[in-house]
Amino acid sequence: MLETLRRIIEEVNCAPNLEQALTLIVRRVKQAMEVDLCSVYLADSARRQHVLMATEGLNPNSVGRVKLRFGEGLVGLVAERNEPVNLDDAPRHAQYRYCPGSGEEQYHAFLGVPIVHHRKLLGVLVVQRRRPARFDEAEISFMITIAAQLAGGIAHAEASGGVNGLHRKGNPPSPPANRPLQGLPGAPGVGIGTAVVIYPPADLDAIPDREPQDPEQEIAAYQAAVEAVRRDILELSRRLEKHLPAEELALFDAYLMLLDSGTLNDRVTEQIRAGNWVQAALRNTINEHVRIFQEMDDPYLSERSDDLRDLGLRILTYLQKNPPARTDYPARTILVAEELTATLLAEIPTEQLAGVVSARGSRSSHIAILCRAMGVPAVMGARDLPINRIDGREIIADGYTGRVYVSPAKEVRAEFERLIRREARLATHLAHLRDKPAETPDGVRIPLYINSGLIADVIPSRDCGAEGIGLYRTEFPFLAAERFPGEEQQLQIYRTVLQSFAPLPVTLRTLDVGGDKNLPYFPIEEDNPFLGWRGIRITLDHPEIFMVQLRAMLRANHQLGNLRLLLPMVSNVSEVDEALELIERAREELSEELETPLERPPVGVMVEVPSAVYQAGALAKRVEFLSVGSNDLTQYLLAVDRNNARVADLFDSLHPAVLQALRQVVEEAHRFGREVSVCGEMAGDPAAAVLLLGMGMDSLSMTVSGLPRIKWVIRSFSRRQAAELLEQALAMEDAHSIRRHVNAALERAGLGGLVHADR
Ligand code: PEP
Ligand code: MG
Repeated sequence: MLETLRRIIEEVNCAPNLEQALTLIVRRVKQAMEVDLCSVYLADSARRQHVLMATEGLNPNSVGRVKLRFGEGLVGLVAERNEPVNLDDAPRHAQYRYCPGSGEEQYHAFLGVPIVHHRKLLGVLVVQRRRPARFDEAEISFMITIAAQLAGGIAHAEASGGVNGLHRKGNPPSPPANRPLQGLPGAPGVGIGTAVVIYPPADLDAIPDREPQDPEQEIAAYQAAVEAVRRDILELSRRLEKHLPAEELALFDAYLMLLDSGTLNDRVTEQIRAGNWVQAALRNTINEHVRIFQEMDDPYLSERSDDLRDLGLRILTYLQKNPPARTDYPARTILVAEELTATLLAEIPTEQLAGVVSARGSRSSHIAILCRAMGVPAVMGARDLPINRIDGREIIADGYTGRVYVSPAKEVRAEFERLIRREARLATHLAHLRDKPAETPDGVRIPLYINSGLIADVIPSRDCGAEGIGLYRTEFPFLAAERFPGEEQQLQIYRTVLQSFAPLPVTLRTLDVGGDKNLPYFPIEEDNPFLGWRGIRITLDHPEIFMVQLRAMLRANHQLGNLRLLLPMVSNVSEVDEALELIERAREELSEELETPLERPPVGVMVEVPSAVYQAGALAKRVEFLSVGSNDLTQYLLAVDRNNARVADLFDSLHPAVLQALRQVVEEAHRFGREVSVCGEMAGDPAAAVLLLGMGMDSLSMTVSGLPRIKWVIRSFSRRQAAELLEQALAMEDAHSIRRHVNAALERAGLGGLVHADR
């Protein structure tokens, strides 16, 4: 059964559109379950009805014609109950509804299961038999399993094909004009532009459809790649001749036969001429042949499908060997990828980057943080994105709500253009605050700092009204390098950063890799990287790396004096003691070398794991300041992976547990006379900023694009008002109620524009 299930899912996921996906589902399920009928109904929420979308067993003309109002018929019953309905004789059930002309009267046994994706009912899968007898437990389990697995594929196909276009058979599916894909807000703002899909090399399924630039040249490239693979295989077979038995060597002959057979070649050529580029033509051809092989009853032949895939990958690798570097990015590019990296982002000229859409990740992934720093709207975790089919299409990426519109209708586009204009007006209003202090109406100064990690954005951000850098993530230069940067190289970077804000304070955080930040030249493979070797745990285990960084930082600070040092991922006081010893050693060494006594810069500890909350006092008394990393603290307190889109709804720093923890940190830091700030993304969230003000935080550090909004918040609420709001919030039991409550207060204070903008 497992094998049948796997094959059905695979086939459905490869189907080019919703119509074919559904047709395949009903055909395969009918075969696998040995039933007389299989139908699939999809929910059309706009019209509040379930529509028969595909059937094997009912009159084919009923497709698109049989429509049941929500709650109507047995299909409505399954949908309402959200659980399987198993009947021995459907026509005798009170809710049975006969659809004339469909031919359903001949069937008696009925089993319907809901198709649910992310809590949302997409439709109902139905099987029936003529013989009146209930379905057994194994059959129900099979249907539940297949419906649960198919839900993702259906949602995916729906997003690129649209239900509406299928209501009447024969009509081409209309583009999902007004049906947005739901992802997660990654970076605020709205980007309208042309999708450019970036795909990982040597992954057939990630190849997008695209028009060939020069079909004849692409055909020649294909033939050259096939020839290269042919040579490789001959060479491999020759090398292994002495080591492998003849029957194993026959595999290579099978490969060569496949390569030489005209079928692959003809199909690829045909598709290129029909208007798809070589890599997608190869993807389609290989998938088609894989399917044919998989369907063969002979297990030997069906296993050959793996060989075909392997062969496809080998050809693809050659096709991608020297891919021309893309330089012709559209003037307004929306970068789309399964998973984006900082280097991919850097490839596109910033003035052409209108937005980013990533199928993976969430608001607190580093790529989202980077987008916020660059002021680029981003949607993360758009898991149902039909990546292969959107290259070159117009896209709206709504970074506020996490929605993505593919080929939007004129009215949708016009609405977003209005929103962009409104945002621009807000930005102009906020620009007036640039030279005004971040001071509450009752005279409390809350210095606002910026978070950074790129030299490129440090320099322009000097003019944004920030009072320094509250978090410089030193790992970004490490990520962009090919080996650990040396002391001189790091010195140059840190000096530029310190100088650009001197005499204002600049907080350099020591290397924080591990977790989701892996250095290509220092790979760490762990089952649970976020609970593993990361941050200070690595640098203390590698004093040779840590000392180079500390020395570079202290040297950069020489004669400037605006450095503050920050230690990440501290979970034990001993880590701080050891780090302080190393800082002291570096200071002594340099004082000797420079023949001048250097001062130890203020040192701070990041509070970003729960143990640090409970030991905030013990940590505070060892150092000069504390800085809360609310991204990690929220992740660890709520046990929600900050990069997992599936649970991103649960990630909210306004959770009462996070607020209680922060209040405790502030109290402990102040008990020891130490300053405390927040440098996680929470500090740039207007609703959170009011509560942090109420808590007594001494300063806030955020991405440069969020700073003007937070200054507006600080200048609009007195500390007393904010403290009252905090008390009210802490009496609530969940993050949603708290957010609603604080947003209402922001609106009353005339800051409604920020409410829409941030959630
Ligand atoms: C945090 O965890 O909140 C933080 C500021 O550090 P990073 O996002 O770099 O892990
Ligand atoms: Mg962190």
